[in-house]
Amino acid sequence: MTIDKAEVIVTSPDRNFVTLKLTTADGITGLGDATLNGRELAVVAYLSEHVVPLLVGADEGRIEDTWQFLYRSAYWRRGPVTMAAIAAVDMALWDIKGKRAGMPVYQLLGGASRTGLLAYGHASGKELPELFDSVREHLEQGYRAIRIQTGVPGLKAIYGIASQAADTFGGEVRYDHEPARRGVKPVEEDWDTRSYLRHLPGVFEAVRNEFGPELPLLHDGHHRMTPIQAAKLGKELEPYDLFWLEDCTPAENQEALRLVRQHTTTPLAIGEIFNTVWDFKDIIREQLIDYVRGAVTHMGGISPLKKTLDYAAMYQIKSGMHGPTDISPVGMAAAMHLGLAIHNFGIQEYMRHGARTDHVFRQSFTWRDGLLHPGDAPGLGVELDVDEAGKYPYEQAYLPYNRLADGTVHDW
Ligand SMILES: [Mg+2]
Repeated sequence: MTIDKAEVIVTSPDRNFVTLKLTTADGITGLGDATLNGRELAVVAYLSEHVVPLLVGADEGRIEDTWQFLYRSAYWRRGPVTMAAIAAVDMALWDIKGKRAGMPVYQLLGGASRTGLLAYGHASGKELPELFDSVREHLEQGYRAIRIQTGVPGLKAIYGIASQAADTFGGEVRYDHEPARRGVKPVEEDWDTRSYLRHLPGVFEAVRNEFGPELPLLHDGHHRMTPIQAAKLGKELEPYDLFWLEDCTPAENQEALRLVRQHTTTPLAIGEIFNTVWDFKDIIREQLIDYVRGAVTHMGGISPLKKTLDYAAMYQIKSGMHGPTDISPVGMAAAMHLGLAIHNFGIQEYMRHGARTDHVFRQSFTWRDGLLHPGDAPGLGVELDVDEAGKYPYEQAYLPYNRLADGTVHDW
């Protein structure tokens, strides 16, 4: 069957989301997530101007061929905008194929390899008591693995510390962990790596003393350290048995990971800003990482991320798919179907979307006993309420950025 209609839908219920909706000649619809946090409209233009005209009349069943056509025919390859656009097409075609077959997408990928997906949430606090409260809230919500981020003495604002603004839509109270702020300019934050390195091991010691040795703990370095600083931190965190240390150095310099590896046995996770298998090729082959952080939405879709993870499996490297709230419910569903099917699933990042988002995107996933499951609805299991989406027009929003004390721009 051919694709009759391709629409790009932008909505901003709790934050901005870009969704591609394909409709076949006989009325089956498929959804794909094309959200690129802070640069959303660039992907909207790429899809609307250059991809939608190519999809109308195309064969809905040819997922791999369509992917290769979009990737190779553009001549200009890779990059977050291109790959988010292609990802949306790939997801939407898998969604349609699942609906056509009457099966959830994970069945088409080989069926379930487990009963559910271990997920981790984001606990944070400026000081230890606030952090401990946040860990307890997550445990009460059922999380069995928790990322730990804290304030650093002397720094005003820092990545990963939840703002205290609560979402009261529908009577729900929820802390806002989404760092993208609405406004015409990005918010400036401050940073000092030496202060951070002095402070963090004590935080993990306190958390282990409070919550014991069993709870899997994670931490995100957010690309802020030099290789030798990351090596030092990894080594100092070894007594606290981290599940992983994420993005310890800027991802562009992949050789840095060799140096880090020589000094520490703390597991390393990297790749949320990567967008093709080529970004992972060498660091997987050289076994410089333990977890692949790619997101279905930013890696070009289910098809290429599955190939990347199958390649990683040869080296006992597992998945750790990116999943904060800037991945839409469609992108999260795609991650859950892929994670359920592959053998080398590791863990899934999971932040709850706000109630407005859950009204716009009707979802069929479940969250029970700390495990996610995509559900058994045909396709990806997500439907977009277009009328509800129309109530929330796009609003300019940017991720914050960092400056050091002397005014130098640093990695955020
Ligand atoms: Mg991260």
